[in-house]
Amino acid sequence: MTIPVFDGHNDVLLRLWQKKSEGAVQDFIRGDGQGHLDLPRMRKGGFAGGFFAVFVPNPHDALPDEDDMNPPPAGEVKTNAAFAPTLGMASLLLRIAREAPDQFRICTTASDIRKAMADGVVAAIFHIEGAEAIDADLQSLDVLHAAGLRSLGPVWSRPNIFGEGVPFRFPSSPDTGPGLTDAGKALVKRCNELGILVDLSHLNEKGFWDVADLSTAPLVATHSNAHALCGSSRNLTDEQLQAIGKTKGMVGLNYANGFLRADGKWASENGLDSMLRHLDHMMKHAGEDHVGLGSDFDGARIPAQIGDVTGLPNLIAAMKAHGYGDELIEKLAWKNWLGVLERTWGE
Ligand code: ZN
Repeated sequence: MTIPVFDGHNDVLLRLWQKKSEGAVQDFIRGDGQGHLDLPRMRKGGFAGGFFAVFVPNPHDALPDEDDMNPPPAGEVKTNAAFAPTLGMASLLLRIAREAPDQFRICTTASDIRKAMADGVVAAIFHIEGAEAIDADLQSLDVLHAAGLRSLGPVWSRPNIFGEGVPFRFPSSPDTGPGLTDAGKALVKRCNELGILVDLSHLNEKGFWDVADLSTAPLVATHSNAHALCGSSRNLTDEQLQAIGKTKGMVGLNYANGFLRADGKWASENGLDSMLRHLDHMMKHAGEDHVGLGSDFDGARIPAQIGDVTGLPNLIAAMKAHGYGDELIEKLAWKNWLGVLERTWGE
C-alpha cells in the first residue's frame, strides 16, 4: 500500500514561472522531468497534495545553494514590483487546475482536500510566501483570498512592510531582529478573520511570538526543522516547538540539507537519518499530532536518497525501518496536516 503524502511547501510555481514560456503549464501537466516536481512524478511518488507557494524572488540574488551558510541578506522587494510575478505564478496555478481538472484541484477547505484525495486528484493549497504583494490597506488580500488564497507567510527571509524575516545564518539563533510592525499585526488579524493560515516558517523569533500573542489560530510553521539539531536561524527552538504543540498547530519537516545537517551545509550530501532525528525531536516537543512533512521541493538541495518527488516512498520506508508504526506514519505523512487545516479554516 502506498501511503499518500500531503506536503507543507513546494516552489514548483517559481520554477515554472522562471521558464517564461507559454508551455510551462503543459510542461508541468505532461512532466518535464526537471527539478523535483511535475504531475506524472507526483502521482508516481504518492504526492497527494500540498501547499503551492507563490514566491517573488529578489531580481538579482540567487537562493542559497552552495556551501555558503551566511549568504548576504536579501534586499526588499517593493509592493509594486511584487504584483506581476505574484499574478504570474497564481495564474500558472489556476491554469494547471483548469487544464488538468481530473488530476489537479485547488482546495480551499479540508473537506475539499479529503474529496480530492478520495478522487485521486492532487489537492493544491494556494500559498504566498512573503507578503510583498499585499498592500498596507490589505486590499489585494481580499482579491487574492477570493482567488483561492488560504495560506500566507507575512515575510520571507527579508524585510517588508509587515516585519523582518529571518535571514539565512549559521550558526545563529532565530532571534535576529525586531518583530511584526503594526501593519504586520493588522495582517495577522485579517488573516484570522478571512480564514487564511499564517505561516511562521520565515519569521524571526520575535515575529513568531508576536503571532503567538495575537493569532486566534493554531501556530503553523510549514517548512522548518529543529534548531537543537541544526543551528540554522531558519529552524525552531524547543520553546517554539512546544508553543506549536500547545496551540494544536503544526511543523512540517524541511528536506533541505542546510536545515538538516548539524554543520548547516547546503550542497553537501545528507542521508535520511537526520530527517528521522528531526522528526523524533519535533515530536518530542510539539507532540506526534503536530508534526508532518514540508519538503521545500524545487526550493532547496535535498538528500539524494529522495532525489525528487518519486523518492517519497524511500522516506516512508525509512520511517518504517526506524520503528514508526503505520498509524504514526499516516499521521506524519498526511493526517496531521488535514487536522490542522480543519482547525485553522473551520471546515
Ligand atoms: Zn521557504
